[in-house]
Amino acid sequence: MSQQNVDKSVDEKKPKAVALLSGGLDSSLAVRMMLEQGVEIEAVAIKTPFCDFDCGKGCGHRVKEVADELGIKLKTVYFGEEYLRMLKKPKYGYGSGMNPCIDCRAMMYNAAREHMEKIGADLVITGEVLFQRPMSQNSRALQIIENETGMEGKVLRPLSAKNLPPTDAEKSGLVKRENMGEIKGRSRKGQLVMAKHFGIAEPPNAAGGCLLTDPAFSKRVEDIMERFDDIPSLNDIELLKVGRHFRLTPDAKLVVGRNKDENEMIKALVTEGDIMIEAKDHVGPTCILRGKHDDAMVATCAAIALRYSDAPKDSESKVRVTIDGSEREVITSPADSSLADAIRI
Ligand code: SF4
Repeated sequence: MSQQNVDKSVDEKKPKAVALLSGGLDSSLAVRMMLEQGVEIEAVAIKTPFCDFDCGKGCGHRVKEVADELGIKLKTVYFGEEYLRMLKKPKYGYGSGMNPCIDCRAMMYNAAREHMEKIGADLVITGEVLFQRPMSQNSRALQIIENETGMEGKVLRPLSAKNLPPTDAEKSGLVKRENMGEIKGRSRKGQLVMAKHFGIAEPPNAAGGCLLTDPAFSKRVEDIMERFDDIPSLNDIELLKVGRHFRLTPDAKLVVGRNKDENEMIKALVTEGDIMIEAKDHVGPTCILRGKHDDAMVATCAAIALRYSDAPKDSESKVRVTIDGSEREVITSPADSSLADAIRI
């Protein structure tokens, strides 16, 4: 075959990529860079119990609208209990909080790889930027994640590609390395220049992120993980996201709503065996007592519920206690702050 024919056949093959899309700026830019090069793209968005979409600072972003704006197909993948199993004992450990970034990214890469194989794509692209995140976006971590998922050479990070070893797609000429970015680090300058190039008037805010990187939330996750030989339920995890939490015994905890919305969320999460506790004659929180309990514990929880209500602090008030639909009443005084503070998670 003549050189001319070889070049022609390369030109005719339209490369196809799967993008891990978060809805944040970085992954959108990565997609735009590839679309500009004539690469056909389908996106995969990941939802974990702790983050709405893959962690390109995309939590809460409008990933569906972004995919529509980009004109690409979107597949959403939900991780549930399998994510909690990984979180219980991540092979590569945790970051500064309970964030198991390397194992988490490996799960995301696996989801992208599966879709890549399903649609016969040539590569996966991500919005990762070298050294943007300490745990998962350094050269060694990126290599580990590729090795763990059998994706060596198959993952192109267009924003940082010139700072990374050439991928298979660059080596074979499917995409042009000279058109790739060389951003690294935490500064957003490079991304903002690119956003301007693509005419993105108001780039999505870089704020947001995964709950597992939040120190206060991480304490709650650590507390619940060590209570279970296996894993907590997804309902237990949802409950971590609302209210004040109090560890009563290794087997029991109390969750106290902080406002009307949280009270509603707590009610929606009540499950079999939970005890719901509310001040009867005063405005106050909805509380769940979850786990092994006795009457003394219920009385303590009633006192804590009153402490966060409008009930007078120096006299007794009634508290409604509901167990599996049947109600009873406890009369007690509000707990003092030292008790509540001592057991708060
Ligand atoms: S911050 Fe880490 S644990 Fe959280 S979604 Fe991103 S990679 Fe996963």
